[in-house]
Amino acid sequence: MIKIENLWKIYSNGNIKVEALKGINLNIEEGEFVSIMGPSGSGKSTMMNILGCLDKPTDGKYELDSAKIQELNGLELAQIRNKKIGFVFQSFNLLSRTSAFKNVELPMLYANVKSKERNSRAIEALKRVGLENRIHHKPNELSGGQKQRVAIARALVNNPAVILADEPTGNLDSKSSEEIMDIFKSLNDEGATIVMVTHEPDIAEKTKRVVTFKDGEIIEDKKMATNS
Ligand code: ADP
Ligand code: ADP
Repeated sequence: MIKIENLWKIYSNGNIKVEALKGINLNIEEGEFVSIMGPSGSGKSTMMNILGCLDKPTDGKYELDSAKIQELNGLELAQIRNKKIGFVFQSFNLLSRTSAFKNVELPMLYANVKSKERNSRAIEALKRVGLENRIHHKPNELSGGQKQRVAIARALVNNPAVILADEPTGNLDSKSSEEIMDIFKSLNDEGATIVMVTHEPDIAEKTKRVVTFKDGEIIEDKKMATNS
């Protein structure tokens, strides 16, 4: 699903160069549930931005679902992003003035899905995360955990190859965090591939594999025997 070979990201600001990723090799198979850990500044966000086709590597290869990402231009990257990737953010990133339904519908508008199908897929996705009674609520009428469930429904709705979640439980209390992790776990049981950044060891423990970054390199890659 994801094949990364000798991937480098070097940020240049004038004379200052920062080697944010230093020759990363990483393969993620379909159906994996991976957490990315590591201290601040270790390259996690840079890695997620590249995985999400929001940024391009300086050097190296990235293959996503057999597309050679390093060879694509900006427009092609945007198309891949919309088709193959579902994003979940720490701060939810919902449109605040519009309903849960409209938020979930949005990625399908970009993908030119017909109205009738948008409707049924949005409702199905909201049901999938247990929000069938909140379809017409706006974000400010929902709890943090419910907002994140809307964001997960939005991430699912184009049936992505991979779900990328950046600290998805970072703004949630422990009960809501657990609910969100239960949803990710059951999506993964149904076959979804999930890559998640987290600072919390308790959260990482619920995934199947923990990849730890330090100073732009992978220093540990551990399969969690109990969750496989
Ligand atoms: P993490 O997400 O693990 O905190 P980042 O990927 O954000 O790490 O950062 C990795 C390194 O790259 C850090 O040294 C950071 O300061 C640097 N960095 C990140 N983004 C930029 C940028 N846009 N310009 C220059 N340096 C950057
Ligand atoms: P940047 O300003 O870092 O170049 P973009 O302008 O591409 O990034 O994206 C702005 C914000 O929107 C970022 O926080 C990014 O993570 C998010 N974003 C970009 N594309 C998508 C997408 N297809 N779905 C959800 N969020 C996205």
